Amino acid sequence: MDPDYDKFDYKFDLPFKSPVEPVKLDGNSKIQFNCHPQIRCFNECCKKADITLTPYDVLRLKQRLGVTSGEFLKKHTVPFQMDGHGLPGIKMRTTDNEPVCLFMDEKTGCSVYTDRPAACRYYPVGLMSMKAFKANHEEQHYFIVKEDHCTGHCEPRELTVDQYREEQGVKPYDEFNWPWYKLVLKKKSSGPTIGRPSQLSFDMFFMASYDVDRFRLFIESKNFRKVYLLEDAYYQSLLIDDFTLTQFGFRLLDQVLFGNSTIPLVANAYEQRYEERKEVIEAKFKLAEVLAKQEDPAEKYIEK
Ligand code: SF4
Ligand code: SF4
Repeated sequence: MDPDYDKFDYKFDLPFKSPVEPVKLDGNSKIQFNCHPQIRCFNECCKKADITLTPYDVLRLKQRLGVTSGEFLKKHTVPFQMDGHGLPGIKMRTTDNEPVCLFMDEKTGCSVYTDRPAACRYYPVGLMSMKAFKANHEEQHYFIVKEDHCTGHCEPRELTVDQYREEQGVKPYDEFNWPWYKLVLKKKSSGPTIGRPSQLSFDMFFMASYDVDRFRLFIESKNFRKVYLLEDAYYQSLLIDDFTLTQFGFRLLDQVLFGNSTIPLVANAYEQRYEERKEVIEAKFKLAEVLAKQEDPAEKYIEK
């Protein structure tokens, strides 16, 4: 059952020693914090990196490094599961024996600073997207993380969460990722009503979210255009622009996973596709039937 967020007293139920302050913040909430290269804990947070990456983070970093999404994923990320069903997420890879970020330079700090991920920009503020019970839209809230190694909380500077977000340049990240956060939230809050999505859905989610170059090969395939009806100019923009293509990917995921249709289909596309693959589909059904019978214990008592 969905929790009744309306009854929340702006407190979270957290483990006793959690570094997360159990207070829900909004954009106008004040925080006391500052971080700068002269601070004595400089780089400490990057030596304890646990950075979950978003689609926009991957696009900015792959562009910065001049690599394909496949190369970036292989060299700089590790997979993890975002929920109990196995919704695929990725984290920034760190050094083998310690959680030290590979982009950290001991003397100069972050070597990808102007393209650093959203989680690095937000820290020590955390972003929380949630949908209140019976509400028809998702909300964005914040919380603060106070870890022993971070002395920025003792710096004499007070500002609002929104001022901090502006300073750290998180707005374009949030704006781009917002439709994706909503997909993740929808999947997490759907719980057992939808059941465990197929492996194919997870593969599609991974490809559209993080592996834009492989996703491009998918939309270049002739079967894709037999199913989805796209204007030529828009389709061409998907072939050349990673950001536009990833935004299209969010729409496609919403359509395929949750039935929220915004991409028109070619008339009779599924019927035509079925006709083309009829023999293969029927052969698969027959094989599934034979296998199911072999596993059915009642089968052995039936006279052949
Ligand atoms: S990307 Fe940069 S800011 Fe983020 S953990 Fe790595 S070194 Fe630190
Ligand atoms: S003040 Fe906090 S965020 Fe800044 S370098 Fe130190 S540990 Fe990292």
